[in-house]
Amino acid sequence: MIFSKDSKATSWVEGANGSDFSIQNLPYGVFSHGGSSRRVGVAIGQRVVDLSVLHGAGLFAGTPVAGENVFACDALNDFMALGVDAWRGVRRRLVALLAAESSNDAAGKVVEVDSTLRDDAGLQAKAMVPLGDVTTHIPSHVGNFVDFYSSKEHATNIGSMFRDPSNPLLPNWVHIPIGYNGRSSSVVVGGTDIVRPCGQTKADDADAPTFGPCRLLDIELEMGFFTGKANALGTPIPASNAPDHIFGMGLVNDWSARDIQKWEYVPLGPFLGKSFATSVSPWVVSLDALAPFRVDQPVQEPDVLPYLRVDGDWGFDINLQVDLKSAKMNEAMTICRTNFKYMYWTIVQQLVHQTSNGTNVAPGDLYGSGTVSGPTPDSYGSLMEICWKGTKPLKLPTGEERKFLADGDTVTLSGVCNAHNFKVGFGEVAGTILPARAC
Ligand code: CA
Repeated sequence: MIFSKDSKATSWVEGANGSDFSIQNLPYGVFSHGGSSRRVGVAIGQRVVDLSVLHGAGLFAGTPVAGENVFACDALNDFMALGVDAWRGVRRRLVALLAAESSNDAAGKVVEVDSTLRDDAGLQAKAMVPLGDVTTHIPSHVGNFVDFYSSKEHATNIGSMFRDPSNPLLPNWVHIPIGYNGRSSSVVVGGTDIVRPCGQTKADDADAPTFGPCRLLDIELEMGFFTGKANALGTPIPASNAPDHIFGMGLVNDWSARDIQKWEYVPLGPFLGKSFATSVSPWVVSLDALAPFRVDQPVQEPDVLPYLRVDGDWGFDINLQVDLKSAKMNEAMTICRTNFKYMYWTIVQQLVHQTSNGTNVAPGDLYGSGTVSGPTPDSYGSLMEICWKGTKPLKLPTGEERKFLADGDTVTLSGVCNAHNFKVGFGEVAGTILPARAC
């Protein structure tokens, strides 16, 4: 079910219309409440709809998930593994159950209302939980975490700072969606506190390295996509099959220890400076919910190799924001506003490139975009760039200064797509820095 950008569809659910979690959105997550086990739900307005209960009530009869209850489990992996026809069948059913009136999809096809849930107070009491009462959990068992480096502005800024301002991009950058295989065990759901890592660092003027708490702790404003269907080992995924293999997107904060990173990363790349924590938002927005916000990606010059040529618009117009709040501040301060549409390499190119050697993806894998930086200093997606290697400290309203994160700081990323009559929001992903444990 793809809504047009002009959609005026509304929902009967409290707080849905005009909210991040509109009838046009229907993001998936994993939650528990009141001591319950984890299960799969969809956020709408101020409610979470428990899909395991709807399934138990027979409301997915006639859809591709009618058999086994793939929502009565602690992760989205089983549902993700089913592919795009199943996702579309469920989404269409949810629109019928949750819309206030019949609605048209982007192709003009009518989705009739089904009032079963709306008219059954007993079922609603079981299936619809106040959003504020739930505990959200990581949406999938992330078997593999891959992190790209796909913003030309970000790569240019980093190259200017650390190599050559007149020639900041390495020659391979415009030919390859650069990435690395990261660590999945430390991918955590938004709201999880982040312990300042310890590690080995070496000051520029020191003769030898030392071991201790990271002093240059940073954020990376990213988005990530979760994979759907697996591919067989040895069988690359062509761009035309991408809709079966990309389930949806969420917000990602890829916490980074710049001093550890700087000392360790040559010659094999990121290691402990990156692997201590990566936060993801609890709600995953499907590609069909994002479809009205697809835009042309930046021009790729020089031409990419044929295997990376992708038809259609695969940029996304998603407004992104970073807020910082120190322990002394009463209110958070916005330190970055940018947009995902600036990304040079698209999510389809990332998937195609990753599997071009035959690597297999598993359902629920997470692919980080790399830091999303826009063209102006107020749109940079890391403190390293915002404070330009510490030379332009942020002034906080309390009189404090920041070049990197201090203990007690809370960073919150948020993202939203805006249409004329509705929003499709990602909610937020937040984390608070706790002091280092004994190093
Ligand atoms: Ca990253």
